[in-house]
Amino acid sequence: MHIIEIYKSLQGESTYTGVPCIFVRLAGCNLRCTWCDSEYTFQGGRKMASDEIMAEVQRLSPSGGFVEITGGEPMLQEREVVPFMQRLLDEHYTVLLETSGERPLASVPADVIKIVDVKCPDSGEGDTFDLKNLDALTRKDELKFVLSSRSDYEFASDFVREHSLAGRVNAILFSPAFRKDATGGRDSSHCLLDPQQLAEWMIADDSPARLGLQLHKFIWDPALKGV
Ligand code: SF4
Repeated sequence: MHIIEIYKSLQGESTYTGVPCIFVRLAGCNLRCTWCDSEYTFQGGRKMASDEIMAEVQRLSPSGGFVEITGGEPMLQEREVVPFMQRLLDEHYTVLLETSGERPLASVPADVIKIVDVKCPDSGEGDTFDLKNLDALTRKDELKFVLSSRSDYEFASDFVREHSLAGRVNAILFSPAFRKDATGGRDSSHCLLDPQQLAEWMIADDSPARLGLQLHKFIWDPALKGV
């Protein structure tokens, strides 16, 4: 697999937010979200064999725990990453897969917890979600909408309603997009959509979603990589 980085930090963008987690970040993405904070994954990466990646995971966390497979878009390396996720499960790790939802997910092992984006219009990549992936979701999976505006919020709310998603997955996450050039202050002024505004819309609508903030952006400098 082509790997950008492997490191240990806190999970920051799901209902698992706050737990220690190893991140295996794969190279390459076929989308170009306007607010992407992972552009450094688009090219390069080091070719690593499955044994080598597993050895690093075991070094960072010898007694199990959470491993998140992320990117870029990890499912672009489906042929290698799918058996690797199964291998992690066999070694008793809890595996999270963070994916854009554009690639087919039917081959992902059933015990992997999928955290699947549905790209909203202001990401510049709206309409890329593969609707067949809704059939691959189970009750332990999570759907994430990163929002930049009121129109994104309305798109996400309509999508959840039209596909009757409430109750079909473990969580529906509405998360304000972060400015990709944010640096310095660890606060919500870097959000493209004010979290307070989003919270008020969600309360007014009795939204079935839960508000998510990118925890690591509030702990470390938002420009820092590898956290
Ligand atoms: S799918 Fe993820 S990695 Fe790819 S451009 Fe969008 S935010 Fe960046």
